[in-house]
Amino acid sequence: MNPADDVARERVLKGIPASPGIAVGRAFVLSVESPTIRHERISPNEVDAELARFAIAIDVSTRELYKAVEIARTEKGTVTSIIESFIHIVNDPTITASIVDRIRHGYAAEWAVIAEYDTHKSLLYAARDAVMRERAQDLEHVKERLLAAMRNRQLSHESAAGAAVVAGSVTPQDMLFFRQNQTLGFVTEVGGINSHTCILARDLGIPAVIGVRNATTVIPTAAPMIVDGYSGVIIVYPTAETRAEYESKLHQAEEYRQRLGELRDQSSTTVDGVHVALLANIDTPDDVDTAMMQGCEGIGLVRTEVMLAQHGRYPSMEEQTSWYTDIAERAFPQPVTFRAFDVGSDKFREGIPHHEDNPALGLRGIRFLLYRPDIFAQQIFAVLRASAHRNVRFMLPMVSVYEELQQAKEIIEACRQALIAEGVDFDRAMPVGVMIETPAAALLADVFASETDFLSIGTNDLAQYALATDRTNELVADIFDASHPAVLRMIRMIVDAADAHGRTVSVCGELAGHAAATEMLVGLGIRELSVAPRLVLEVKQRVRATQYADARQLVEKLLRCTSTLGVHALLTEGR
Ligand code: PEP
Ligand code: MG
Repeated sequence: MNPADDVARERVLKGIPASPGIAVGRAFVLSVESPTIRHERISPNEVDAELARFAIAIDVSTRELYKAVEIARTEKGTVTSIIESFIHIVNDPTITASIVDRIRHGYAAEWAVIAEYDTHKSLLYAARDAVMRERAQDLEHVKERLLAAMRNRQLSHESAAGAAVVAGSVTPQDMLFFRQNQTLGFVTEVGGINSHTCILARDLGIPAVIGVRNATTVIPTAAPMIVDGYSGVIIVYPTAETRAEYESKLHQAEEYRQRLGELRDQSSTTVDGVHVALLANIDTPDDVDTAMMQGCEGIGLVRTEVMLAQHGRYPSMEEQTSWYTDIAERAFPQPVTFRAFDVGSDKFREGIPHHEDNPALGLRGIRFLLYRPDIFAQQIFAVLRASAHRNVRFMLPMVSVYEELQQAKEIIEACRQALIAEGVDFDRAMPVGVMIETPAAALLADVFASETDFLSIGTNDLAQYALATDRTNELVADIFDASHPAVLRMIRMIVDAADAHGRTVSVCGELAGHAAATEMLVGLGIRELSVAPRLVLEVKQRVRATQYADARQLVEKLLRCTSTLGVHALLTEGR
């Protein structure tokens, strides 16, 4: 301890919780660069030297990013593709040519880079789409990397060992390097909750709090600090009492993790014997192994559109067949549920004919697939071919109209007949289900249940459409809540409809993994939950602590609530 720490007063700063966990350590503050960089204009005889500085910066940044890709490969597939996308931006021929042009017209290399990147960034910031705005942040990261390389200023990731980094923003690759050096947590001034850096922090399990105003100026470097990624609170110069409180929380969290590991081979059954199957939501073949290590009973959702984002195009039927077969074989004998491409809205948009003013209400999911039956059929052929081991299910996203299901079934049937004629071995009884994620589908759940093999409730979209609240818009984030009584009443209706037709109904939206929701969902009659792999054991622990009889009583009260606040009060403060 520094002598100064004893006299400094405890200070609490508030931000947005971006990645759960607690870090207790010291602050490592990355000061913000001064915007004034050398002189703006250069003379003609300096042009060659400036062009060379720019070329070296591209080279240094690219090599650094490739190093990050190597580290990312051992972490998770999606992280790798994020960093690879940065390599593409750094080496983008149009951007590079335009910067070279600016230098030739008499601008210093730094200024040329700033002007070019800021132009692209302002276009993205102006976009209505929150995802596009997040991508502007990626351009900012790349710009800063190039500027740092030109000034020969590399971050010293080792210096943050055992400390929590406080920065304006942090790039995903810096986060990987910091983590290699045992950095404890992150505090940033900017950054959206869905930015790549935040997604990465959650994937890596590093506590992070974002949106802490002026963090780099108000937190002194080396100050003792606690980062609470659960509540979004930063405590600078914590008192001995606060420190002890958090250290005991850390200790409990560690004990909890160890206890969870012991649950891997235990059954997922309530105290009074009701079995609740736990499955995993995944994006890539590697995720299957992670999920299976948690002892889950199958894969409840493969978001196949993630493969599109990774390829930047629609892969051929052969490519898709080998990708789906890889997943099905890794999961075998457990079942795998492939969801048809859910393109449109804030996801992959290739093939959507023009700009849509309201993309979430536009050509999305099944609507796009019926608009492009060629793309849909290629995917169906690939999924059917991957069903040879009889553990594959197929699921249709965003269904809201009965005819959509009928048309989709006709296309699936035509594909089945074509494979039979070809003599291909596949599962002729492959179950086909629909996602219930629009209010129309919820109200017609009995119709969809009678026409399909299973239902799966996408609570993210069901809440978005039921509450008329854009799930990616931070301005209405306080309204977006899948525990809203209207959504709960819909879930009850869907379960009743599925039960009446003897169909399974699962929940695969984020609500399935929420700490307070397990007992409620079990009480609502849900017998299958599909969650992120790292949540499987936590949910299992909560299922095992649930009394079904109590859960049903809780649900009767919840269904009489008039507001989300009332629901939360019942869920968290006891009944
Ligand atoms: C959902 O909407 O709840 C869901 C699981 O689908 P996605 O989040 O991919 O839209
Ligand atoms: Mg959805």
